[in-house]
Amino acid sequence: MKFYFPLKLAEIIYYQDPYIQELESEIVFSRNINNYYLLKFRENLFYPGGGGQPADRGMVGNQPVEKIEEENGEVLVYVKELPPESRVCLKVDFNWRYDFMQQHTAQHLLSQVILRLFNFQTLSFSMFEDHSAIELNCPEISEIQIRQVEEECFRQIQKNLDIKIHYDVFINEGDKLKSSFQLRKPPKVSENVRVVEIDGYDFSACGGLHVRSLCELGLVKIVKVDKVRRNVRLYYVAGRRALLDYQQTRETLMKSCNLFCCSPNDFFGLLENSMKNFKEESLKSRKIILELYQRIIEQEIRKEPILYLEINFAGEIAKKLGSWALEKGFQLILDDKQAKRFLIASALLKEQPDLQKSVLEIINGRGGGRGGILEGSYSQELPVQKLLHFWKENF
Ligand SMILES: [Zn+2]
Repeated sequence: MKFYFPLKLAEIIYYQDPYIQELESEIVFSRNINNYYLLKFRENLFYPGGGGQPADRGMVGNQPVEKIEEENGEVLVYVKELPPESRVCLKVDFNWRYDFMQQHTAQHLLSQVILRLFNFQTLSFSMFEDHSAIELNCPEISEIQIRQVEEECFRQIQKNLDIKIHYDVFINEGDKLKSSFQLRKPPKVSENVRVVEIDGYDFSACGGLHVRSLCELGLVKIVKVDKVRRNVRLYYVAGRRALLDYQQTRETLMKSCNLFCCSPNDFFGLLENSMKNFKEESLKSRKIILELYQRIIEQEIRKEPILYLEINFAGEIAKKLGSWALEKGFQLILDDKQAKRFLIASALLKEQPDLQKSVLEIINGRGGGRGGILEGSYSQELPVQKLLHFWKENF
């Protein structure tokens, strides 16, 4: 986590007021580097990223910002062309920034709520365009606990608590650093520590951008729980992301309900029933297909020592036919041309251990098996005539 800043506070517009979206500033330094122009401005409007929060997006004059970096406490902005005037208008993509301000503030709230409710510590967090997550030092978290966390976040948001920023200098007490605030997690530096407070509820050392008031989060919703090593990772959405997530989820649900001609409350029961019926019907159809193949084989096998059949291997039909053929004393070559898979059933494979190797050489494929079954895959085409000829010649 990065929250040390040697820049003069007056020049850091994104810290002074993260809601300022536009200003005119002066280029104080420029350099051409690898087809880009690296610019430094008198005022730093663009947040360079850090502490898990991505850098801003925006415009310098009429061209987009390609990259923003922080180097030795200086904010460097990359653009493709050098602006013609030294005074230039800077503009932040505020939708992008505000979304992360919401996700970031939600992370502070979530971490404190979970700490107070269950004493689980937040080990790390990440924020991306498509997801935000925190990792907790607990082996699992139940559905009931998740609901409690969401309820408590909602309760705190409704209190409309202010977010306050403080700058703290720590006092060395022996080998420990003492802060003036009850920090949720000890910071890694002791000077110019930026403390973000959710009005008396949470104090956290952080260099990110946050909203002014908790009510701007609207809603914090946990959307997924993963197990990572021995910990739990919670994915969450906040603010407009929560609204978008709700809209999308609702749309999917309503489309599914229309398909089933049912209400949302009846949907899951109907889906469960349909899945059960589908599985039963699939089993029945597979049984019919298997019986049909068995009839064909029984009729055709009398004409050949080994019968070649092209079939679809889905639903383990090939395996079942192979075992059945062995019981009957039939020899079969089954071929799924689409999947490029084959299965050969013959008692000879069991009796002559070297036969498997010879067959695989003819097929020029990979495979194995035992008990009279040889199955595998091939790359081009199964050499059917060659195989049939080999069988006629040898057996
Ligand atoms: Zn923060």
